[in-house]
Amino acid sequence: MEKLQIHPLLIRKYNQPVPRYTSYPTVPFWDSKLSVEKWQESFAGQFNLLNAADGISIYIHLPFCESLCTYCGCNKKITQNHSVEEQYLAAVEKEWKLYRTLMKQTPVIREIHLGGGTPTFFSPKNLRYLLNTLLKTSVVHPHHEFSIEGHPNNTTKEHLETLYAMGFRRISYGVQDLDPEVQKVINRVQPIENVKKATENAREAGFTSVNFDLIYGLPLQKVQSIENTIRQVIALKPDRIAFYSYAHVPWTSRVQRLFHEADLPGAEEKIQLYLKGKELLMGNGYFDIGMDHFALPHDDLYIAKQNGKLHRNFMGYTTQNTGLLIGLGVSSISDLGMAFAQNEKSLHDYYAAIDEGKLAIKRGYLLNEEDIAFRQYIKDIACKGATTFRPQHLAILEEFCFPPLKQLAADGLVEYDIKQVTLTEDGHYFIRNICSAFDLYLQRDQFSLNSETFSKAI
Ligand code: SF4
Repeated sequence: MEKLQIHPLLIRKYNQPVPRYTSYPTVPFWDSKLSVEKWQESFAGQFNLLNAADGISIYIHLPFCESLCTYCGCNKKITQNHSVEEQYLAAVEKEWKLYRTLMKQTPVIREIHLGGGTPTFFSPKNLRYLLNTLLKTSVVHPHHEFSIEGHPNNTTKEHLETLYAMGFRRISYGVQDLDPEVQKVINRVQPIENVKKATENAREAGFTSVNFDLIYGLPLQKVQSIENTIRQVIALKPDRIAFYSYAHVPWTSRVQRLFHEADLPGAEEKIQLYLKGKELLMGNGYFDIGMDHFALPHDDLYIAKQNGKLHRNFMGYTTQNTGLLIGLGVSSISDLGMAFAQNEKSLHDYYAAIDEGKLAIKRGYLLNEEDIAFRQYIKDIACKGATTFRPQHLAILEEFCFPPLKQLAADGLVEYDIKQVTLTEDGHYFIRNICSAFDLYLQRDQFSLNSETFSKAI
């Protein structure tokens, strides 16, 4: 098996907090100026334009979890009280009905993703109710893709059979790490037997794609322990693997203060964890899709990548390209292609808005032409590893994007000229940094910071 290596100087240089670019502009640049009325008007226009031709995508955030993982950065509510399910589903149903009044045609549903939180916190009966609510007045697209995030400890056969009957064929299990010591410190004890059982049950129920989420950079992880985890994972042959970098942000995720920072691997150790994981995956038949995703060659994600049909939205990489994503539930994000909106992040505020009969929009963003074009450049890089520039952007590219690209090219990570940019083999390790060269919000901020420093210096 070929050993993967990246120069430590490059690791140090590009070890910066860079967005995942599931949206552009990224969420910190959105604001609360987008009114609910403007959002509704934009939604109605885009829906009319896109629904019949491409269908729509729906993401539903199901926020409850029974216990708290100490690495968690998600919007969740910890409770053992399952009576919260009904109130929440009633609110999501009302929210869907608010969107339905804006639709002048029958919605054609092409993609549903249930994320969380822990979607399998909800009983099979309640999940069936939720899905029937959406589907009873909609048409399901012939090439639909329905998927769910499941917890290996509480995804039952009944969950899987219910979801299969509703058209679900993909499940993603949060595996994270299989080392007992790491599991203890992250407060997520799920023995390999549970993961194995959940995987077998999914396959027996008829699911054709099982994804495992793994994380590198967790407290107490070592190269040897990650090797053990990956070897156990490979034996179960998940069709896809997302191998995420742990983001340590204790100032926003207070739960991350529950372990000792000294137990976290350092930056270089962390990339060694990644390289070991990637080496094992690629040596065992997995292909690199981009941004920490891997897939076996029979999986649709790999086939879409080969055919240049890979897309990226808030749910990560996808083979579907609907152009319109409705996010239902607390903190969910919707994407109209030319506008984004995020729902209220606290359950209290979400319920209050829905009870008033209003969409629970907290903040959003209307994209201008420049945003749409640069969003496409970033998407192309993330999905295809290359993009072609439009001549009308040359002046902006020269001012803001070529200076960071020059650096990246000098480090052997990209090749570019005035017409295009292509990632090199090593560039794939720094794909987010390369995307950030086209993030005009970051680059303009950087530019004004540099000018300020310069004017202060003189
Ligand atoms: S990591 Fe997932 S299961 Fe754990 S607390 Fe966060 S949302 Fe819940």
